[in-house]
Amino acid sequence: MGSRTLPPDVDFQLAPPRGRIFDSVVDVVGGTPLVGLPRMTEDDNLQARVLLKLEFFNPLGSVKDRIGAAMVLAAEQEGLITPGKSVLVEPTSGNTGISLAFVAASRGYRLIVTMPEGASIERRKMLRLMDAQVELTPSRLGMAGAIARAQEILKTTPDAWMPGQFDNPANPLVHERTTAQEIWEDTAGTVDIVVAGVGTGGTASGIAHALKKKKASVEIFGVEPTESAILNGDEPGPHGIQGIGPGFCPRTLDVKALDGVLTVSEREAIAAARRCARMDGIPIGISSGAALHAAITLAHRPENHGKTIVAIAPSFAERYLSTSLFSGL
Ligand code: PMP
Repeated sequence: MGSRTLPPDVDFQLAPPRGRIFDSVVDVVGGTPLVGLPRMTEDDNLQARVLLKLEFFNPLGSVKDRIGAAMVLAAEQEGLITPGKSVLVEPTSGNTGISLAFVAASRGYRLIVTMPEGASIERRKMLRLMDAQVELTPSRLGMAGAIARAQEILKTTPDAWMPGQFDNPANPLVHERTTAQEIWEDTAGTVDIVVAGVGTGGTASGIAHALKKKKASVEIFGVEPTESAILNGDEPGPHGIQGIGPGFCPRTLDVKALDGVLTVSEREAIAAARRCARMDGIPIGISSGAALHAAITLAHRPENHGKTIVAIAPSFAERYLSTSLFSGL
C-alpha cells in the first residue's frame, strides 16, 4: 500500500460541496439529482435521452419528503397548526407517514399515523424510531379502516389536524414550485417529456402546471398499474406497485393537465427496476420501475427520437425488501 502513488491530478469527479449549513433536516428536502442511464441507453439503442430524477436523495428517502415538509410548513403559515401544541393525524401505510414523522419530530409536533395491520414491520419501526404513534386497524378493512380511525382520532383529540395528502393543495403546489423548477434548471430548459407515477397525482399535476407555462410543447405522462387502470376506464384492482394506483381519482390529481396516462404492469415495473439496478447501478423502487418502463416505451416511439425524457424515481429498492422486487434473490 505504501508503494502506491496516485497521480497528483487524480480527479474523483464527485458532487461539489453544497456551500452552506442547513438549519434543520427539513431544509435539506429537494434539490435531487437528475441522472442518465448510459448502459441501458446503449443496450436498448435508445434514440432519446432518458434521465431519472432520483427522489430517494431526499433525507428520508422518498419523493414524499417534499409534501411532508410542504403540508406542514403551509399549515403553519396559514395559522392552522402550532409546534408543541397541534397533533398531526394521517392515515397512511406508505412513504407519507415516514416523511411526516421526520418533519413532525424536527418541528416538535406529536404525530399519530393510522394504518392497516398488514403494513410492513420496517415501516412501523421507522415511524416509532421518530416517536410517531402508530395505530393499527384490522387488515380486512383495508385503507378505509385506517381512514375511519384517523377521522375518529381527529374528532376526539384537541388541536388535532390532518394533512390529508389526497386533498391538500400544498401537495401539487410543492411539485410546481420545486420538483418542476429543478427539472427545468438541471436540463437547461431542454426537457421535452416528464413521466411520473400517479398516486395522489401531486407530482405529475404540479410538474405539468409549472413546465407547461415555461414551454407549451412539454408533455407530461402519468403512469398507473395495468391491474388497476381506472384513469383508462378500467375497474380498480389489487396490484403490487406501492405508492401508485390508489383505485380512485384524488382531488390532488389534475387529469386535464396531463397529456396521457400510460399503464404498466407490476411484472413490467419490476423487470425495469431490476434492469436499472443491474445495468446502471441504480436500485430503484417498484413505482420508479413503472415510470422508467413507460419512459423507455415513449423513447422508442419515432416521434420522440432526439427528445429529453425525465422519469421520476420516487423511492429506493431497499424500502421493498420484503416484496416481489427481491423474490428469488
Ligand atoms: N411512488 C411512490 C413509492 C410513492 O410513495 C408515491 C406517493 N404516493 C408515488 C409514487 C406517487 O406520487 P404522487 O402521490 O405524487 O402521485
